[in-house]
Amino acid sequence: MEKIIMLGVGHGATLDLYNTCFVIQNEGGNFLIDTGGSIEIVKRLNQMNIELSSIKDIFVSHSHTDHLLGLIWMFKRMATLKLDSNHKVNLYCNDLTYDAIIKVAEQVLSEGLIKKVFSNFNIQILTDGNKKIIHNIEYTFFDIRAKGPKQYGFECTLNNKKLVFLGDEPLNKELFDRVKNSDYVMHEAFCLDSEQDIFHPYEKNHSTAKSACEVMNELNVKNIILYHTEESHKEKRKELYIEEGKKYFNGNVLVPNDLEILELK
Ligand SMILES: [Zn+2]
Repeated sequence: MEKIIMLGVGHGATLDLYNTCFVIQNEGGNFLIDTGGSIEIVKRLNQMNIELSSIKDIFVSHSHTDHLLGLIWMFKRMATLKLDSNHKVNLYCNDLTYDAIIKVAEQVLSEGLIKKVFSNFNIQILTDGNKKIIHNIEYTFFDIRAKGPKQYGFECTLNNKKLVFLGDEPLNKELFDRVKNSDYVMHEAFCLDSEQDIFHPYEKNHSTAKSACEVMNELNVKNIILYHTEESHKEKRKELYIEEGKKYFNGNVLVPNDLEILELK
């Protein structure tokens, strides 16, 4: 049975919520999607009983701080693990994201550490529509046609359900056909629609719970998973986002908390 373990559900500047990243876990292993922005990633994995050395597949959606910088901290921690040369970690990302990873790593890590860690990595540069089998699941990676830096999402089938991950921007109309009729869509929601004057989501290429749910409802999506949110409502966040989303979405609205495990049914 596959599970989605949400390590973080916050946006790029949250303090209590960790930045959005998660693990798809099945009998085959742990697939990490995005890394958050700090060394907290390692702690979060530990909290969910996931050893850093068990992460052999990592996907980084795009080059922004809150998705990429945790990887730099993972490199630092991995350098302490004394991994043998047969230990290989697949790093999946688009070309521009990879450029950013290398540039940041070169600026902030020693040459020796980079050499050591990268000897354990297989770099897999993704192009639009690339398919990869990861732990017996076929993932189709695709360009989400972001307004910001080149960003990739993916679709896959988990527990016989079609799941689409759309990164951290509103769904581009060019991708409507891909997303239509999906069982589960993972879509960002920066804030509540009623609070857009406070958080200005559209200026930041983000959605509200309402706008994300309206589009997914049009596309006949059955379940929407909202993440990459602000954190001002603390423990009320889940309830308020679900309440707003449900007004505009006929299916199920899920708003996970940090460290929540989702099982797709
Ligand atoms: Zn982000």
